[in-house]
Amino acid sequence: MTGAIDPAIKQALLARLRFYRDLGLTDFYRRPLDPELIAALQANSEVPTNLGARGLDSETWDTASVSSTVQENETIPPRKPISAPPAIATAIKPADKAAALRLILEDIGECTRCALHKGRNKLVFADGSANARLMFVGEGPGADEDAQGLPFVGRAGQLLNNMIGAMGLTREEVYIANVVKCRPPANRTPEPDEANTCSPFLFRQIDVVRPEVIVALGATAATYLLGQRQPLAGLRGRVHSFRGTKLIVTYHPAFLLRDPRQKKEAWADLQIAMRELGLKAPNRG
Ligand code: URA
Repeated sequence: MTGAIDPAIKQALLARLRFYRDLGLTDFYRRPLDPELIAALQANSEVPTNLGARGLDSETWDTASVSSTVQENETIPPRKPISAPPAIATAIKPADKAAALRLILEDIGECTRCALHKGRNKLVFADGSANARLMFVGEGPGADEDAQGLPFVGRAGQLLNNMIGAMGLTREEVYIANVVKCRPPANRTPEPDEANTCSPFLFRQIDVVRPEVIVALGATAATYLLGQRQPLAGLRGRVHSFRGTKLIVTYHPAFLLRDPRQKKEAWADLQIAMRELGLKAPNRG
């Protein structure tokens, strides 16, 4: 690209791109510059508020450094998820939800939107019922999931199945998805740009399923659903909201495999979810 972009236009474009990304639209093509459009944008001065304070990549986060990243790299900064589901979500009838989810999968296609596609064997979209009352959101596929194209099918998945069973539900009755749909190399945490590229598809899945309760499994799911990074300890044990849906945060099953003493705490979180759903634990007689 030649020449510097006027900062006001750049901010307006960033705001517009964020809006499209919230709708799940991420591929764009450039046309020659239209002077009338530019003049209109300048007249509207569609300048977003402090971009830096919205970030999710807290390990390296401070407002000043993120602001300067935006200036230098023209990346779209991470943003807080919008607080209410789009009106269209309420219009999807239960019988049409599976088809609506298939459309999202078609939109994803043979995705190359972020670097994670390079190591992918199978894209992992989701598993479970399109009409689930309860949804679990994990971080991203591991080796087993990448091989099978299904979320939570390895050891952590086995534990998750047991957690679901303890709630008196089956895996087929809930909906399970991840923040990213392709396996990060060596199971590392998804980078903010990867999670921010992929999570709009997760948000669309949530808007279709419209579960009554979402359980965020671990810090990555909590971070991208809540739009802010906070220690898990401060987020557990209470009901949050994700676009009007009740959201509960608990430990990731992989963490519980490493530290089984925390299962008691996780069970307390799941009981909050059960309370919100009006479920009683099955009698284990
Ligand atoms: N861990 C996750 O976060 N998701 C999976 O699908 C599997 C393991």
